[in-house]
Amino acid sequence: MKRCRVVCPFCGAGCVFELVVQNGEVKGLDYVVDHPVAGGALCAKGNAAWQLLGHPDRITTPLIRNEKGWQSVSWDRALDGILGSIMSLRERYGPESVAFLASAKATNEENYMFQKFARLFGSPHIDHCARLCHAPSVVGLRKVFGSGAMTNPISHLALSDCLLIIGSNLAETHPVVAKRIFQAKDRGALVIVVDPRKTATASIADLHVAPLPGTDLLLLGALMKVIIERGYADYPFIGARTVGFEGLEESLRDLEVEKVSRISGVDLGTIVRVAEAYGKARRGSLVYCMGITQHRRGTDNVLSCANLALLCGHIGRDGTGLYPLRGQNNVQGACDMGCLAEFLPGYVPLSDTERSRRFAELWGCERLPSSPGYTAAELPEAIIRGEVRGLVIMGENPVVTDPASGKTAEALKKLDFLALIDLFPTETSKYAHVILPAAAWAEKSGSYTNTERRVQWSFKAVEPPGEAMPDLWTISELGRRAGFWKDCGSAEEVLDEIAEVIPAYGGITSRRLKNSEEGLIWPCPDEAHEGTPVLFKDRFYTDDGLARFTAVNYSEKFPEGTDLFLITGRLGIHYNSGSITRRIENLNRYKPEAEVEINPGCERAEKAVHGKALVKTSSGEACFPLRSSRNLHEKTVFIPFHFPEVNNLTEDVLDPEARVPAYKDTRCSVEIE
Ligand code: SF4
Repeated sequence: MKRCRVVCPFCGAGCVFELVVQNGEVKGLDYVVDHPVAGGALCAKGNAAWQLLGHPDRITTPLIRNEKGWQSVSWDRALDGILGSIMSLRERYGPESVAFLASAKATNEENYMFQKFARLFGSPHIDHCARLCHAPSVVGLRKVFGSGAMTNPISHLALSDCLLIIGSNLAETHPVVAKRIFQAKDRGALVIVVDPRKTATASIADLHVAPLPGTDLLLLGALMKVIIERGYADYPFIGARTVGFEGLEESLRDLEVEKVSRISGVDLGTIVRVAEAYGKARRGSLVYCMGITQHRRGTDNVLSCANLALLCGHIGRDGTGLYPLRGQNNVQGACDMGCLAEFLPGYVPLSDTERSRRFAELWGCERLPSSPGYTAAELPEAIIRGEVRGLVIMGENPVVTDPASGKTAEALKKLDFLALIDLFPTETSKYAHVILPAAAWAEKSGSYTNTERRVQWSFKAVEPPGEAMPDLWTISELGRRAGFWKDCGSAEEVLDEIAEVIPAYGGITSRRLKNSEEGLIWPCPDEAHEGTPVLFKDRFYTDDGLARFTAVNYSEKFPEGTDLFLITGRLGIHYNSGSITRRIENLNRYKPEAEVEINPGCERAEKAVHGKALVKTSSGEACFPLRSSRNLHEKTVFIPFHFPEVNNLTEDVLDPEARVPAYKDTRCSVEIE
């Protein structure tokens, strides 16, 4: 019997637990009582995670599709097939004709080598699913603070006096984080949740504010206006540590709080109460998730959150901070590793020719692509236009997760070549030409970076089934056969290279991670450094060390009238596209299919209690069992997004800066059957 410490494969909280292994098989798990995030607990998903390891649906050999269907082939044939196809596309149409999608579920080392492969291949199109969730956090927080990550550790939520949670249902999406909310409440903190739905998180709040979807930006502006007018702003902090306050004031000058109240549906007294509670708190925390980012103006929403925290001086101290909660276990790491169209590892912009040249030298090529390629959300259009003809996807399922996913499916049909690396057949694999079997998280070693920048080592517990291999081996083989390197080395060696090229990871080695129960929180610039749980204590990561208030435009037209909005979101027992959790019976039986939630106060649902609802948007239509619920705004319908047909309804309208799709901004109509 042995025990192996692993990182949970699901949400970005980064819980760690021990797998109990006997005779090469996982028999169960045990909790790690002292772990700083998990603290001796796991949520339902974490508890059930090991059950997918021996699942009969696992892909166990490389597969090539021919006229008879899928055929098992040798690794040699599959790898040479992939390479032959993408190299021939490169020869005929140029390196821009092939795109690469990395994975927020793969290790740091796998993501680092995957983007390196893409860039050595010469393609500018490397991205991953952070584009679909937190790209506005990367872009917006970098503008204001010089760094686009969570500022404080999760445990600091318990130290806060006022928690303002906007667009996050963390009690379901990041359940272990919720216990910090209870700890804060026990200390007397006020918890405010802003969400059009009365979610599980809203039900543990002291105050639930339910604005009309799409009006968060106005509400954030109104909060700042009240804070300034009533004298709650922290002027000593603003004077000492920021620039651009005048611009913020100017941007708010014409914003009428009464009008915001009318448009958002939040009464004036509540706006003032929230402004007062957060503005006057000694230590305030602002938590947000995709309810803020997945909007037409997702980056402006994030900028407004950052401005609000700066305005009140709630940054750079214990118990304060901004908490963009990441949804997948390594979405932070995949961003750090450079799996983004506009950044090399360590968020080096492609336009930074000097540092780009240094990467090229280290990687042994003449030069790297110098301008950003297509983002994940832009790829389907680029494929339809014929600009992208080949695609290699590591562990993602865009046919379920992309907005207007019907369009994505149509686009994938047009590809000359699609290769997938995955655990299971998915909705996307229908369109693939080659599938490579991947090892799951407990079948390989490597590091993951959680939502609070904590880098942790996950140990291999068992062998992968059949011929499945870790993605690092697969990428190494592809690169070796392409002549990009002899062998990319072990996960430990790749982490050494990461430490060499990303200053924030400079002191993070596998030896330190393996010997640490808690991992290391970046920035950790050298081996003597203990990590940096709280960012910006003394200076922001800008050239002059000062934060930049970044004004946004509040004068644009906002939704009013009778529109009905579709909002999508997560459930506590499912994970992303559902390709894993829909296969775990202990989870799936609680919600095996999508239901549409409608407020009976909505005129279209007045008489409906049971039955079906046909939901129509400009992207498509789909029918779901109906669930009548008073727990959501009358002008919204809610559908959990873990099921294939749901994103066929969302629209592929993008935020102009971060290119995140506006999943939470879809107008819909509903017919009750
Ligand atoms: Fe895993 Fe997240 Fe649940 Fe923790 S909260 S057990 S990381 S899914």
